[in-house]
Amino acid sequence: MSDAGVKPIDLAAVDQLVVTTDAVVQEALALARRRTDGGKGIDNEQVHCERLAYAATEVAAAKALLAYATAALEHGQQDRSIAEMAAVFAAEVAQRLAGSIDAHSAEFALGDDRLNQTLGAPATKAVIRAALSDARVRAIGRHAIQQRGVNHSWLDNELALMTRDSVRQFAETEVAPIAEHIHRHDDLVPDAIIDKMSELGFFGMSVPEAYGGGGMGNLPMIITTEELSRCSLAAAGSLITRPEILTKALLKGGTEAQKQKWLPPIAAGRVMVGISVTEPDIGSDVASVKCRADGAEVGGKKGYVINGAKAWCTFAGRANVLALLARTDPDPQKGARGLSLFIVEKDPFPGHELEMKQATGGVLHGRADRTPGYRGMHSFTLSFDNYFVPAENLVGEQGGLNKGFYLQMGGFAAGRLQTGGRATGLSQAALERTAEYANDRKQFGEPIGNFQLTQHKLGRMATYVMAGRQLTYAAALKMDADEAIALEPAMAKLFTSDVAVWVTQEGQLLHGGWGYAEEFPISRYVVDATVLPIFEGVKPILELKVIARTLLGG
Ligand SMILES: Cc1cc2nc3c(=O)[nH]c(=O)nc-3n(C[C@H](O)[C@H](O)[C@H](O)COP(=O)(O)OP(=O)(O)OC[C@H]3O[C@@H](n4cnc5c(N)ncnc54)[C@H](O)[C@@H]3O)c2cc1C
Repeated sequence: MSDAGVKPIDLAAVDQLVVTTDAVVQEALALARRRTDGGKGIDNEQVHCERLAYAATEVAAAKALLAYATAALEHGQQDRSIAEMAAVFAAEVAQRLAGSIDAHSAEFALGDDRLNQTLGAPATKAVIRAALSDARVRAIGRHAIQQRGVNHSWLDNELALMTRDSVRQFAETEVAPIAEHIHRHDDLVPDAIIDKMSELGFFGMSVPEAYGGGGMGNLPMIITTEELSRCSLAAAGSLITRPEILTKALLKGGTEAQKQKWLPPIAAGRVMVGISVTEPDIGSDVASVKCRADGAEVGGKKGYVINGAKAWCTFAGRANVLALLARTDPDPQKGARGLSLFIVEKDPFPGHELEMKQATGGVLHGRADRTPGYRGMHSFTLSFDNYFVPAENLVGEQGGLNKGFYLQMGGFAAGRLQTGGRATGLSQAALERTAEYANDRKQFGEPIGNFQLTQHKLGRMATYVMAGRQLTYAAALKMDADEAIALEPAMAKLFTSDVAVWVTQEGQLLHGGWGYAEEFPISRYVVDATVLPIFEGVKPILELKVIARTLLGG
């Protein structure tokens, strides 16, 4: 990036800024930890705990982006725009935190002096001001406009790079041409896409080789998801999420026989999965799930009969199995300790309605709820009436009885990491379409990308997309090292989902009236993005019950 008027940022100063910001957040967390008795009293301070969870997430993103920029420069990358983005992002996070501490000084309880010594210190303020110069942000935006927003960012991993190139080509050839049609007609993802993704091994990337997967780890899987979501969140980008959730739950709590039985066909894409946790009256309060699984012998076979309602089960029609969380201990006082996870087999149904009748009399009925976006997979309200599931389909068998909640939560961590990739891919698509539009659309005699405000907006969009990407990649690598982590995937999901909502809407605005027309894909991106902060733990719950609880409990 070259801009005569902008002095390149000194990354050492940015590093110091991030260290200072992090130290302030850690101090604020330590105070809140004491006040909430190690997180037990979060509900007495929900608003402040949400604020802290978000600030800690933004600092994690600033660290990830700075680490990436530093490594890229050390590896001889010539493109300085990443370093400039790291500076702008770190400065925005720091100044937001300083403003928040100032406005909520009673809740932070850090004291004005402490603020003045840290984020308010003259040297720190000078770095923030230099980093946030309008000219610097505009220069990032001009760079994005010149590159038409395309993501050629440096990857320090040959496998990840090859994955990005090959999946991008696949998605542009196979997914992009059908994405708009599926959205407008609310069609089902075609089997041809699933078959091709299966042949390419997309469903088994993070499944261990011993169980028929690629054993490639989480980073190539995330990059695959990102590139598919860049062409369509619903028609391809979300297909890997459900198998990922069940795979992680099986690896964590399944018996060896269950892993041998289910993981190879999941990895090969022969078994499509739906996840069924939510109920019409039970959403965030998962421990209160009411759908019952009662031990029974049906037709001479030992197992469970399922009775009750479920809601929002995505892909339930096409799926061959549903990972279903149901109450196995009838005592409601048992809460989370009375739930078990089942693999419920069913036939695939192509439409918006399904009815599965068992010879033993059990019935599963489902109807898809209409949604403004995220079309292609269809999310179903389900009712189970004496639906029989054999005992061997209880995850963990007898040892997994009443342990389903914990297995499901482990699976959700994998799903949230996945959503970091999904949201980044969707944001990337919005960035590219908007950068193209800024080049091509002329008003007042010149491309709208020549206007300072357009450049500034695109500069911030590109910066936030890259921050979310690096936060997600860092979480993926961390999950490779420790499958049990929950904090980092939750942070990646929280931040990238917000980025996707904001970047798609900002992109729509830059498209003017045409951004509201169905023929421009940005209008689809906007409605697709709004689901991201809702599922897999709606945003306030993710902040309070996963991020704040982990940070304050530690
Ligand atoms: C398109 C789509 C697809 C989905 N796919 C699936 C799927 O495949 N499988 C599945 O099981 N589920 C799925 N879901 C469901 C999703 O996970 C839930 O919608 C989500 O968990 C939130 O639950 P809820 O909708 O019942 O909201 P609620 O739990 O009713 O929460 C609503 C709001 O209440 C507030 N709130 C609730 N509790 C608290 C609290 N303790 N403290 C502070 N505020 C609180 C929050 O502001 C929250 O946003 C999907 C949802 C959608 C929209």
